[in-house]
Amino acid sequence: MNWTDEQDKRLKDLGADTATLTQSFETAEERNRAFQSLEKQMARETGDKIRHHLAEVRRPDITVLREKLAVALVEAGFTEVETPLTVSRAHLGRMGIDENHPLNKQIFWLDKNKAMRPMLAPNLYYILVDLLRLAPHPVSIFEIGPCMRKETQGAQHAAEFTMLNLVEMGLPLESRRERMEELARLVLKAADMPVDECPMVVEESGVYGETLDVESPDGLELASTAMGPHPLDAPWGIDVPWVGLGFGLERLVMARAALNGVTLNPARAGRSLGYLAGFRLNV
Ligand code: ATP
Ligand code: MG
Repeated sequence: MNWTDEQDKRLKDLGADTATLTQSFETAEERNRAFQSLEKQMARETGDKIRHHLAEVRRPDITVLREKLAVALVEAGFTEVETPLTVSRAHLGRMGIDENHPLNKQIFWLDKNKAMRPMLAPNLYYILVDLLRLAPHPVSIFEIGPCMRKETQGAQHAAEFTMLNLVEMGLPLESRRERMEELARLVLKAADMPVDECPMVVEESGVYGETLDVESPDGLELASTAMGPHPLDAPWGIDVPWVGLGFGLERLVMARAALNGVTLNPARAGRSLGYLAGFRLNV
């Protein structure tokens, strides 16, 4: 017999590895005894890790990753932008997200006309209209920042997460696919992922129709990508070919940890009151 759901949850919380989580026992008594001593030991180790983090490491993986990605993209000719954390109903409408859209139920509305942004795309579309007018093509920009969606939270979703969205507009039509893959590789490399083991697979997206997703070696969605010309371009007045990639930073941190046999969820990888740098605080 295996751990009870509650024991399994607590052990995962404390960062138990797969070998520990799949352990099996002859009797419930034996299992519960093993749990007690394991929990105590892991709680002690977690305390040590938190003290080590405070003394030596001092920064969460996600902010270090954020910086690495920004440096790599600026080096590759991209310009970083910071846009508001909120988005208007009208701009969500231009993304095709209206009352009937599945994503509409996931939006945190602040009032009738304003919401917390569930994605970066509408804000980036908005400023690209002017940038395409003002600057030589292609125009390459990116933003890294919080997005919010009402999710059934779990192993892969948090209500607050961090998105990297990079967009290149005004590039030759025939080079889009190749450029897309080049940019996906650039981001994966900057995130210390094994680039050749991360497949690009065709997926159906609620917003963009058919898209290419970038996955981790264990099949976790790391990014969704899209290309234009696209039907969503017209409401913004955009008529040049483009590529765009949206990566979840918590997912990159999780995928990186999984390569070392550590199972993280977005709450442990991202913003949290319960964890510090992925370590459970209430131990
Ligand atoms: P999923 O299919 O995993 O729910 P999605 O396709 O709805 O994700 P996208 O709109 O494609 O998400 O967002 C781009 C990226 O942002 C995703 O590939 C993922 O890495 C990340 N992401 C999206 N939603 C969340 C979330 N709730 N928590 C953590 N990361 C997320
Ligand atoms: Mg997706």
